[in-house]
Amino acid sequence: MAPLKLKPGVVTGDALLELFAYCKQVDCALPSVNVIGSHGANAALAAAREAQAPVIIQFSHTGSQFYGGKSLDNAAQKASIAGSVAGAMHVRAVAAAYGVPVVLHTDHCAKKLLPWVDGVIEAGEAYFAKHGEPLFSSHMLDLSEEPIADNLEISRKYLARIAKMKMTLEIELGVTGGEEDGVDNSGVEHSKLYTSPEDVLLAYDTLGPVGSFTVAASFGNTHGVYAAGNVKLKPSILHDSQVFVKSARKTTSDEPLSFVFHGGSGSTAEEIKEAVSYGVVKMNIDTDTQWAFTDPIKKYMDEKGAYLKSQLGNPEGPEKPNKKYIDPRVWLQLGEKGLTARLVQACKELGSFGKFEF
Ligand SMILES: [Zn+2]
Repeated sequence: MAPLKLKPGVVTGDALLELFAYCKQVDCALPSVNVIGSHGANAALAAAREAQAPVIIQFSHTGSQFYGGKSLDNAAQKASIAGSVAGAMHVRAVAAAYGVPVVLHTDHCAKKLLPWVDGVIEAGEAYFAKHGEPLFSSHMLDLSEEPIADNLEISRKYLARIAKMKMTLEIELGVTGGEEDGVDNSGVEHSKLYTSPEDVLLAYDTLGPVGSFTVAASFGNTHGVYAAGNVKLKPSILHDSQVFVKSARKTTSDEPLSFVFHGGSGSTAEEIKEAVSYGVVKMNIDTDTQWAFTDPIKKYMDEKGAYLKSQLGNPEGPEKPNKKYIDPRVWLQLGEKGLTARLVQACKELGSFGKFEF
């Protein structure tokens, strides 16, 4: 199959649907990286350029707050809303300069955090009125803690609203294990860590007529990286769900659903490949990219320790200036390079590396 041609810039609307459909056709998925500042966003765009494949940049609730600035008061989600919008505007301003296509997304939003996404959608509607396209490509609602009927009813309302801008909604069915972004699911009942095909069909019937959606299904995946053997990964749940929906609704496609793999960090290349073959189009990666950013900086601090004790004086002489070692750009760039390399690796494992033209 010929590589999919994409325009540099933010991928939205029908172009995003085409992108996900292509991913399923050629059995590849896109890495989705949690970004907390412009340095992370730039490193992700550099990875897209190097991998010749689009990446997804996403902002979590607390990541957005950090983007806006931790000293900002987050009453009524003001800081998180401002941070999400600032992050999206930053990516929009530089993506074309990198010459790469990029998807803009917001991560987990539980019921109590809905005012955050409300604010971001409001900003998106204002952007849409001006530019004819949405600010973000997609948003996620994570109402997996609510009863399934409430989860889908609230999701349906939000999808109806953002579908007017041709945006996609990511929902969560079942619970992603582990801990991330201050949400700790490490004690959750075992059966909840596995999504049922019946729930997937219910989501298909409820949301399908309203607009475009993706499903973060639980198949034993966890946020964070832990020693092996804690939870068993069962990607076959994704396959079973596709077959169940196809046969129940006689869909023409073998993969009527587009799945999202949360907690991709720490997964083996084989596990990733299997999940992607069952219709995963997006894999979230956070812990591994946090490490890829921090590790080279830690090494730098260790290696250059003698140059970082004061502004003047190092092993070359008591009055030698240390400005070029202290400058945060020196070590932030090392973090960016580490993050870029890790995302390029993810593109290879997800099969998206080199499969696009732009
Ligand atoms: Zn997640």
